[in-house]
Amino acid sequence: MDNIEHTKNYRFAGYDTVELAKKYGTPLYVLSEEIIRSRCKELKSDFLDKYENAKAAYASKAFLTMAMCKIIESEGLGLDVVSGGELYTAIKAGFPMDKVMLHGNNKSYEELEMAISNDVGRIVVDNTEELYIIEEIAERQDKSVKVLIRIAPGVGGNTHKYITTGQKDSKFGVPLAKDTIDEAVAKAMKSKHIELLGMHFHIGSNLFENDSYIAAIDIVINLYKRLKDDFGFIAKEINTGGGFGIYYTKDDCVKPLSYYTDSIMKAIEDKCKELGVDIPAVIIEPGRWIVGEAGITLYSIGSVKEIPGIRTYASVDGGLPDNPRPALYSARYDAVVANKYDQKPDRQVTIAGKCCESGDILIWDLKVPEIKRGDILAVFSTGAYNYSMASNYNRIPRPAVLLLTKDGEKVIVERETYEDLLSRERVPF
Ligand code: PLP
Repeated sequence: MDNIEHTKNYRFAGYDTVELAKKYGTPLYVLSEEIIRSRCKELKSDFLDKYENAKAAYASKAFLTMAMCKIIESEGLGLDVVSGGELYTAIKAGFPMDKVMLHGNNKSYEELEMAISNDVGRIVVDNTEELYIIEEIAERQDKSVKVLIRIAPGVGGNTHKYITTGQKDSKFGVPLAKDTIDEAVAKAMKSKHIELLGMHFHIGSNLFENDSYIAAIDIVINLYKRLKDDFGFIAKEINTGGGFGIYYTKDDCVKPLSYYTDSIMKAIEDKCKELGVDIPAVIIEPGRWIVGEAGITLYSIGSVKEIPGIRTYASVDGGLPDNPRPALYSARYDAVVANKYDQKPDRQVTIAGKCCESGDILIWDLKVPEIKRGDILAVFSTGAYNYSMASNYNRIPRPAVLLLTKDGEKVIVERETYEDLLSRERVPF
């Protein structure tokens, strides 16, 4: 890296990214505390403070560490967790448990027990059987558990099929069939240890339109009306999930938060008034929208291979293990050569990861200036579903996570070492 030509370096959140790469090594996840907090503040001003009946939880699957819990707590948001590990992180960070919501299509008995004994604020029930388990645990612990029932509203989001979740044929949620829903609602209403507050749906992730939210709201409020008529059930809440789209490449037509939330609130109010149903509190749970654009990943360029007349591959020192999204859902990213930020991108290269997989391509056909070994690549919008989805494939240690704060940069997750990779192994001979 010493032979980097120092022209104008790319700065992220006020920091020179080339200097960060030099100091902390690559690959390196870099997160801006200021950007995360500014998203939380926008959420407050444009949703929580604007509507009396609005609540928000950060979907921690997007990115979770104890430091992140602290930021989310101080911004006054709730936390959505989806596993014992995410819940454990929140507990260890001292996150207020009454603001935690447990999700999951296959929560284990132990996870439910952990959630109930720690008094989590909500459990989002995915199937009727789960209600029986919750009741048994709650009865034994002499607790009352607040639940929402996740339904599959039969609405697909316009996004990759692996991140649409609200369609009929989905592993998530109770199907909208009358008997199935009624069985779950009747069970919850009958239980002395369960307080049913309403329904939850999550249509999909990285959505750029609001029409699927509106369609799903119509279905849920119709259901509230029917449940009121049939069971006398008065829903106090509706959770419309997360999924708001963010900027990855110039083709993404990003909308402000209020584009989604104003239409969600209006659709709920209009439909409730139309049907004579009480207007419930509305919970949203964005993940990507809060943290996605707050993160970048810094890589060092290694081998550069030109296949004459076909393409040039520039390989980085990470890839699939730190960002599986391109391989998983053909996700697209944009990037710059950080140490040549002022140079004209006059050629095209394909950014390859270092894994033994042909599918380990981070970015096809990226416009760059002349690129060579030792250059630093900054890939944008990697704050969500990168660190949280990272693996050790090919025994590649996970990168460090660096948080850029007003008081300097702080390592919030240390870089894994080769020793870490072996630390849980036992050799029985
Ligand atoms: N809520 C639920 C139930 C989810 O499954 C997800 C993502 O998968 C989210 C919220 C967050 O979605 P996003 O990060 O797109 O906002």
